[in-house]
Parts: sequence; C-alpha cells; structure tokens
Amino acid sequence: TLSPSLTLNDGRTIPQLGYGVWQVEDGVAEKVVRQAFEAGFRHVDTARIYGNEAGVGRAIASSGLRPEEIFITTKLWNADQGYEPTLAAFEESLDRLGLESLDLYLIHWMQPKQEKYVDTWKALIELQKRGRVRSIGVSNFTAEGLQRLIDETGVVPAIHQIELHPYFSQRELREFGASKGILTQAWSPLGQGGELLEDDTVAAIAAKHRATPAQVVIAWHLAIGNVVIPKSVTESRIQENYAALDVVLDADDIEAINSLDRTAAGEGRIGPDPAVSD
Ligand code: NAD
Repeated sequence: TLSPSLTLNDGRTIPQLGYGVWQVEDGVAEKVVRQAFEAGFRHVDTARIYGNEAGVGRAIASSGLRPEEIFITTKLWNADQGYEPTLAAFEESLDRLGLESLDLYLIHWMQPKQEKYVDTWKALIELQKRGRVRSIGVSNFTAEGLQRLIDETGVVPAIHQIELHPYFSQRELREFGASKGILTQAWSPLGQGGELLEDDTVAAIAAKHRATPAQVVIAWHLAIGNVVIPKSVTESRIQENYAALDVVLDADDIEAINSLDRTAAGEGRIGPDPAVSD
C-alpha cells in the first residue's frame, strides 16, 4: 500500500502518512529511518532541535531512494527566528541532511513574545522563491498568528503542524485552517503512546477491525484529513503503524473517537500552548 497524497495550496503534494523522529538520537536515526523506508514510509519529519538531521541524511543517502521519491520536512528552531538568521539556519539544516533542496520547511513555534515570526515567514517565502524549498508552513501557531502572516505577506502557509490526537482534537484550528486552504498536520498523533492506546473505546474499535489501537488512531487521523507522523523506534511498530493505511473506519467508529475529545473540559493537551510558549 502506498500512502495517499494530499495536495497543498502551492500545488505540491505530501504523503498523508509520514514518520516522525523527535527524541531519536542521531546515532539511531539512520537505522530507524531506513526501517521506515523499508516499511513503505516516504515522508520523514525532523527538526533542527531534534539533533538528528545528519542521521536522517545518512538514511536518505544509503537508501538508494531518489530525492523525488521522498518527502523531507525540517523546522527552524526558535533561537534562529528573524530574517537573516533563518536564511542561514536553513542552509545549515540542508547541509546536515545532505540535500540540495527541501520539500517542506516549518517555523517550529510561533514564539509570540519574540515577535519575529512575520520576519521569519518572509525569509521562508524568499527561500521558496529561490527554489531552496518547495513548500513552506508553520507549526504551533494560533489562528490569530496565522491570520497575521496572511495579512502581512499575502502568502498562506501550506501546512500547520499542531498537537492533535483523539483527546485533543483541535476542531477549531482544523476548521480555521481548512477555511484558509491550510492542511493540518498532527504531532503526537498517538498521544505519545500513553493512556490513549489503552482507551476502551479505541480498544473496542481495534478488536472489531482486527487492528491494533495505534492503527485505529492513525486510521482516524487519515479519515478526518490530517497529515499524520507517528514515531516509533521499534521496527515491528514502524511496520504496524504503516499498515494502518489498510484500516478503514466507518462513520460510527469515527464519531466514537471524535467523542473522546477532552478540550471542553480544559484537558487533553500534552505539550506547551503555542499562545503562551516563548
Ligand atoms: P507519538 O504520538 O507519535 O507517539 C510516539 C510513541 O508512541 C512512541 O515513542 C511509542 O512509545 C508509542 N508507539 C508508537 N507506535 C506504537 C505502536 N504501534 N504501538 C504501541 N505504542 C506505540 O509522539 P511524538 O513522537 O511526540 O509525535 C510524532 C512526531 O511528531 C514526532 O516524532 C515529531 O516528528 C513530531 N512532533 C512535532 C512537534 C512540534 O512541535 N512540531 C512536537 C512533538 C512531535
């Protein structure tokens, strides 16, 4: 099975299911990214701050896959925000990855108190104009922050990568993104592998489909239109997560998983709130 592709607002496409490598040591990254490629993944999500761009690059180089066969994302770290620092940080990331150009570059966090995100976005626009990166987007923004990028530059981010899983399903930001033509990408899509994968509702749906809880959660992301990037460093789970492409949920399953959302109770979020995180 090949991952479906979704079309971005710049006309490019992105494989809907990708492989994330947060908290993967550089020395381990080459092995597990190769395993992900062997399992079928063609889309890898890394970041400057993960410290494993070089390991991801070694996996790409030794895979025998051509650049046009894979989709690589990396992210600009907070300390490098601002126009000139962004241009420099981008080239350093590309060097570590061993790539001549990149598929997707994201501003990692909005950092509202730094107030450099508009200038940073202008640098991403310039990198795209120069052909250094094919698609540009952001991560961990608010709707207001996204609107400000659009108002001040006229360029709509292709992707918004945010914390999103059944306990924190981000309905409002997904709808806002959709209204602007921004695809939503889910980080910590499995809730970092905690309580969510023990959830009774998820377990019941998994039993019904002869699938695993992780596969059911990934299938839910795919069904609601998210780009999704589960992480694992265990080869059997990497294969299991990729095989979620074969799990097709029905409308009742999706509704049951939608109802797990804890946002209304002021709960569900695992990571920092982008609105106040600097
Ligand atoms: P995740 O939700 O993908 O959970 C990963 C954990 O779930 C694993 O470490 C493992 O413990 C468990 N797991 C994975 N597959 C499993 C399986 N089949 N069965 C049982 N348990 C399983 O968490 P994540 O790594 O936080 O998020 C995924 C990716 O999203 C990251 O690797 C990174 O690329 C990206 N991310 C981005 C940001 C951001 O700020 N933009 C923040 C966090 C993560």
